[in-house]
Amino acid sequence: MSEDTILEFRNVTKEFPGVTALSDVSFKVKRGEIHGLCGENGAGKSTLMKILAGVYPYGTYSGTVLYNGKELKLQNSAIQAAVREGIAIVYQELTLVPAMTVAENIFLGREPVERGSIDWDRLHSETRSILEKYRLDVRPQDVVRNLGIGQMQMTEIAKALSEDAQVLILDEPTSALSEVEIDRLMEILQTLKARGVTCIYITHKMNEFFRITDQLTVLRDGKVVSSQPTAELTPEKVVGLMVGREMKERFPRGARQPGDVILEVQDLHAEWAGREVLKGVSFALRKGEILGIAGLMGSGRTELVMTLFGEFANVTSGAVRLDGKPVQIKGSQAAMRHGLGLVPEDRKRFGLVLPQSIVRNISLANLGQFGGSLAVDEDSELAASTRMAQDLAVKAPSVQVAVGSLSGGNQQKVVMAKWLLSNPQILIMD
Ligand code: ADP
Ligand code: MG
Repeated sequence: MSEDTILEFRNVTKEFPGVTALSDVSFKVKRGEIHGLCGENGAGKSTLMKILAGVYPYGTYSGTVLYNGKELKLQNSAIQAAVREGIAIVYQELTLVPAMTVAENIFLGREPVERGSIDWDRLHSETRSILEKYRLDVRPQDVVRNLGIGQMQMTEIAKALSEDAQVLILDEPTSALSEVEIDRLMEILQTLKARGVTCIYITHKMNEFFRITDQLTVLRDGKVVSSQPTAELTPEKVVGLMVGREMKERFPRGARQPGDVILEVQDLHAEWAGREVLKGVSFALRKGEILGIAGLMGSGRTELVMTLFGEFANVTSGAVRLDGKPVQIKGSQAAMRHGLGLVPEDRKRFGLVLPQSIVRNISLANLGQFGGSLAVDEDSELAASTRMAQDLAVKAPSVQVAVGSLSGGNQQKVVMAKWLLSNPQILIMD
């Protein structure tokens, strides 16, 4: 292994019951580079990174991981060990403790101690200096539960950065970030690179790879299909490698013929916790149309769609019309009866019951179709849910496994499946 290689995977294979998540993975990561890792949902990206982070310790996979020229042998409860080795990870799923503050989360398990008790002044000042150094838009004493999802993600990143990592792994960090936050993250990565930190970067946004990475490794079905300098690639080539065939057009538009107005929102005002969150919103949606709602984090996008769905804020004035008829939707049950579906911003908070099976999560919003919640016809529930899961290519060993065990992308597909099964007239995706 040459001096400038910091990490090398040799024939790494990782099996889960019924799934080979990684198969014979071999590639190298150079010291100080930003190395992109891409692949479709379920390709094995997160699993590979969890091996580096010690979530799957030595012995739970086969093959070799070389780190600074030595075999990485993280033992059980290896997560702290990975941190000691200088490997820090920001997971795809948020891992913060909602009831704790930003400072407590960042230093969780390694709080500065002064004569046997936590040194709160130092905890806050050290947190403040990290937040200032990277110009992150949260305060040490903010309780995580009250933050927006983008701010939570920034806090996760601050936590990883506070560990003085040699290798920083970011697993889809930007899915919840605003453009401004993404720009800041890109600056942070450049700064870290200038300091010699190696970064492994996973995203589903092709432009980010081409903006920031030096080298790009593509995984498909757990196998490495390419590992080469980003400069030698184009977005079209990468997509082709990911899906295994040439893609002429990435998002074929199809022929859509929008029909009559189905939803009309007129001068809608709504308030929440004493604050006006919608200030006169008006728009019309036609049947068969895809309507985009743009705005920065905090501009009211989520508040708008949640309000339409009858959750969250209270409408104070204005009108919502469905098929020309004025409606007042109070709560998600009513929204569903009106033919609305909502894939929420935070699938953990509003979309999924993680310990429950794929089948149950898909059918949950639709129990009425299977005889109601008291007497569920389990055969038709299973058949319908399985069909939806297959249509959306949810990757899992069986539809009976807990949703919490799936990759983030596959969890998102389960949320989609649930709403598609309810056959909505209008599907809102936040
Ligand atoms: P990616 O991050 O590229 O979307 P993952 O590494 O999360 O993919 O998943 C790779 C494959 O391994 C998928 O088929 C996924 O369903 C499966 N998988 C991931 N984690 C587990 C687990 N804890 N138990 C069972 N299967 C898993
Ligand atoms: Mg993943």
